[in-house]
Amino acid sequence: MSQSQTQSQNTYWIEKLKEVIPAGVNSPVRSCRAMVVNPPVVDSGFQDMITDMDGRSYIDYCGSWGPLIHGHAHPTILEAVSKRMAKGTTFGMTTAIEEQIVRKVIKLVPSVEKMRFVSSGTEATMFALRLARGYTKKPYFIKFNGNYHGSSDFLLVKAGSGVASLPEASSGGILPEAVRHTISLPFNDVEACRRVFHDSTYKNQIAAVIVEPIAGNMGTVPATPEFLQMLREETTNSGALLIFDEVITGFRVALGGAQSLYKITPDLTCFGKIIGGGFPAAAFGGKREIMDQLAPLGPVYQGGTLSGNPVAMEAGLQAIKLLEVDGFYEELARKTALLTVPIKQYIRENKLNACIQEVGSMFTLFFGRHSVSNMEEAQKCDMPLFASFFRYMLEEGIYIPPLQVEAWFVSQAHTDEHLIHTRDVILRFLKR
Ligand code: PMP
Repeated sequence: MSQSQTQSQNTYWIEKLKEVIPAGVNSPVRSCRAMVVNPPVVDSGFQDMITDMDGRSYIDYCGSWGPLIHGHAHPTILEAVSKRMAKGTTFGMTTAIEEQIVRKVIKLVPSVEKMRFVSSGTEATMFALRLARGYTKKPYFIKFNGNYHGSSDFLLVKAGSGVASLPEASSGGILPEAVRHTISLPFNDVEACRRVFHDSTYKNQIAAVIVEPIAGNMGTVPATPEFLQMLREETTNSGALLIFDEVITGFRVALGGAQSLYKITPDLTCFGKIIGGGFPAAAFGGKREIMDQLAPLGPVYQGGTLSGNPVAMEAGLQAIKLLEVDGFYEELARKTALLTVPIKQYIRENKLNACIQEVGSMFTLFFGRHSVSNMEEAQKCDMPLFASFFRYMLEEGIYIPPLQVEAWFVSQAHTDEHLIHTRDVILRFLKR
């Protein structure tokens, strides 16, 4: 055994990984770079805990960034998936289970009349937007600063301010042409968005508005009801489609997603995370008339080798069935409140410059702000303080998302004991 192995298996593995995978990770935020610490390399997960290569366990509030609403290695999902795998893992052909899961989604999310499965949230939003362009025959998209919809070229744009700002790619390797028709606007700003809809350049030229109705990618930031109402109104009036990106919020904030809480019917919805039950699956769906524009019925191409993979469909179906148990969301909210309510109270009573924003079992503890309603405000948070908080939590055996502007997730596997322990650990930090 080398010296580094005797010191820490974790350090050994992250260094080995870095030799062959850029930064040692297959998705940048996993590197914990902004936290100025090496990430734990995961060996296993069970219920609300993950264990790293050194055998250290952490209470997990990242939950694979949202899918694990039932915690790690849920026995019902594992058993069903094992049975399914024994029948073959992929065919690139249609299987009956696809019908079962789609029927379930249609029942729970009435705006969806037909849907298609893909393998990632990135694909779901990319295809939904292509479909919107194909259906409306219009060129422009509106998205909102701080909303994240995956890593397609035309969605990686820098924050914009309104009609006057030209879109610029936020990543290398993207042609200016690819983002020329993407308009990025401040989230929750009713007037800025209305102005674009009525500007002479864009009037009746907008194919779709895509929005996270409860943003999770700038920390937890719910849209105001007026903002979403305005989007529904303006899209309807101008012949554009309203696309809700519910990759995080779908099945997380309610069985019917954020759209059921706001009582707004989008034209298309994107799902991911929970719908795959811990496997790589995502989906997009909506009005029949729009969905039937997809090939081979219509001219809009979309496909994928592993789309609707039967193992992922089984996991997703079981995950959704477990959510349908009476009182599931109430119990999850009760658990989350064990952690969040006393912290909110402490912040209030001691007039700390911090806040918790939450919807159901997703929440964010923001440092340096009393509230956050858009990306511009989220960026004013105290990032260095958050980084030291992250390292403190890690030392205490608690894993939270390694970025201030992300959502934490509570699962039904989180025990009251672990939630209360986490609360006390956070209160100790705040008292310092
Ligand atoms: N939309 C939202 C709202 C997301 O949070 C994410 C991923 N965090 C995506 C789309 C992209 O999903 P994926 O990482 O599966 O491509």
